[in-house]
Amino acid sequence: MIVLNLKEILSGNTKFQGKYSIPPEDIKFPPDIGEIREPVEVLVEITRDERGYCVQLDIKGKVELECSRCLEVFEKDVSQTKKKHIELYPSEETLMLSPEDLDVTFMEEPDIINLEDIVREELILEIPMKPLCRPDCPGIPSPYLFFEEPEREDPRFAILKNLLKGKEEEDGGS
Ligand SMILES: [Zn+2]
Repeated sequence: MIVLNLKEILSGNTKFQGKYSIPPEDIKFPPDIGEIREPVEVLVEITRDERGYCVQLDIKGKVELECSRCLEVFEKDVSQTKKKHIELYPSEETLMLSPEDLDVTFMEEPDIINLEDIVREELILEIPMKPLCRPDCPGIPSPYLFFEEPEREDPRFAILKNLLKGKEEEDGGS
């Protein structure tokens, strides 16, 4: 477990930098979402600010996912750079901002963060609800899935047709 005591690592320094290689068994990625097979490389940079800490993460890694259309297993690059703000207590200013405005994590324990937890969270956020091996994945190759869809009629014509039909009936009835 990589536990960083922020107060300790920043005592006497304005900036902390660390490089970690987190093995899959430590990431504990939820198996129902995907699988991590190789260590995830993380570069961490932490600085202190008025209300807490600013944590920048450079994550390099891949997750194995199952395509939601063709069910093939494929690798997704989940490498990313994230800036997070870590605060001890929610400040009034923070509470007024919507979550989209600011990526804030609150510490459960003062000044202590678990790097694996943060990295896992960031990786999960990178995984789409319905992963696709490629944007135009045709799905399971089956002859039944490739029948031609009947050409759809322009809805405007349908309305026009109905109008004409109604008129015809009207004419015929009189
Ligand atoms: Zn696919």
